[in-house]
Amino acid sequence: METIYDKSEAGKQGTAYPENRFSEDEPGEELDSDLFRNEDPELPEVSQPELIRHYTKLSKKNYGVDDGLYPLGSCTMKHNPKPMEDIAAKERFSGHHPLASADVVQGNLKLAYQLGEYLKDIGGMDGITLQPAAGAHGELTGMLMIRKYHAENDGLDQRNKILLPDSSHGTNPASAAVAGFDAVEIESNEEGTVDLDQLRQAVGEDTAGIMLTVPNTLGIFEKDITEVAEIVHEAGGLCYFDGANLNAFLGRVRPGDIGMDITHFNLHKTFSTPHGGGGPGAGPVGVKDRLVPYLPVPTVEKNDERYEFDYDRPESIGKVNSFPGPFGVMVKAYSYIKALGDQGLRDVSGNAVLNANYLKEKLKEDYRVAYEGLCKHEFVLSGSDLGEDVKTVDVAKRLLDYGYHPPTVYFPLIVKEALMVEPTETESKESLDEFVEAMKEIAREAEEDPDLLHQAPSDTPVGRLDETQAAREPVLRWEEE
Ligand SMILES: *Cc1c(COP(=O)(O)O)cnc(C)c1O
Repeated sequence: METIYDKSEAGKQGTAYPENRFSEDEPGEELDSDLFRNEDPELPEVSQPELIRHYTKLSKKNYGVDDGLYPLGSCTMKHNPKPMEDIAAKERFSGHHPLASADVVQGNLKLAYQLGEYLKDIGGMDGITLQPAAGAHGELTGMLMIRKYHAENDGLDQRNKILLPDSSHGTNPASAAVAGFDAVEIESNEEGTVDLDQLRQAVGEDTAGIMLTVPNTLGIFEKDITEVAEIVHEAGGLCYFDGANLNAFLGRVRPGDIGMDITHFNLHKTFSTPHGGGGPGAGPVGVKDRLVPYLPVPTVEKNDERYEFDYDRPESIGKVNSFPGPFGVMVKAYSYIKALGDQGLRDVSGNAVLNANYLKEKLKEDYRVAYEGLCKHEFVLSGSDLGEDVKTVDVAKRLLDYGYHPPTVYFPLIVKEALMVEPTETESKESLDEFVEAMKEIAREAEEDPDLLHQAPSDTPVGRLDETQAAREPVLRWEEE
């Protein structure tokens, strides 16, 4: 692939400024000589059109949710309304200095406070922090609060285990471990939900809590969740609800009403911030009363008609992010909730579940469904009984030739040759039907011409990559050979 350096030709220039920009009577400031470099950096010398065309070409080799369906399970790659981007970019939101005093940012603090109130209402929670910058960051924040709770109530050495179903999201055990807990796995039953007998055996005096991904990574709602909560609470543990995929039940179920003590929200996924590309995202965490004292500082509070940061929280776990947290994301979430209203939010989950079930029913004519029955926002197929030697990875690579970003593959680990599909609520029936056509075509090819799949992709800028090498020995910057 050609880099911008390959186009470089000595003497070419992309800008045209006058030689001496300062007039005699308006001299430029002289810089101290130690601020100068000894050597000029080696920059590509290209004309402006060459530069623009180079990067425009590169951008066209990319694929994003604005190009087409992006059915990446567990990741909610959906269309997010552009007006919310517009609002967040407005000077009055984006232009404030992060250290500006509360007096000059009353409007921003009010927005943050109200967003917190909405999220508490949506999650059925009593307190909230808007600080965490991602879902996993929210999990860690929640785990630290659980630690602090037990440290103050039972003594920490005693309760050091977090229970995790084998269908939980990959970040869950990682967050528990980073917070200093031992992660203990619980197997799922045949229906793909928590096995209550196993859970009863697993809980004890060392149980700090349970982390439940809901719906779990099989796209299934934990139907026994209130019993799960009872069992864990009785043993003295707390219940953490991973609400990253809230679009599966938004406006219909509130974690706080079904026994959950903590939940995080992924504003990037559910509330109008694009997911992926490295952020910024936001993972606010809601808690029930008994955990409110441990929330990170500062919280945003309302006193009479004034909004302020509250740092005076002696039992807080401390700070988890700089400044007020990811404010631009809060603006988008706030505008999205305002724009949709109660019914609009309910429709989000209605459409997410309808789309997923529609797609599942269509695809199961050609692909094995890992778990039958109604799914929520996503479902898992298995590529284990396709044509000869055809694997899930081949289907995923072939989808690239059809112009699609593939679904999540080989996750969750409990399904062999897993293919995890999340269409999201923003796809139309037409776009789902087109995707079904492509998947059917690929199933046919798997039977008739497996080599076509083994060699895929062939219509993309690069062919099949050595993914093991890419993961183990990533080359993250370009170097001259
Ligand atoms: C995406 C996701 C997370 C992690 O969120 P990040 O913002 O990527 O850290 C956690 N749990 C579930 C169920 C998720 O889908």
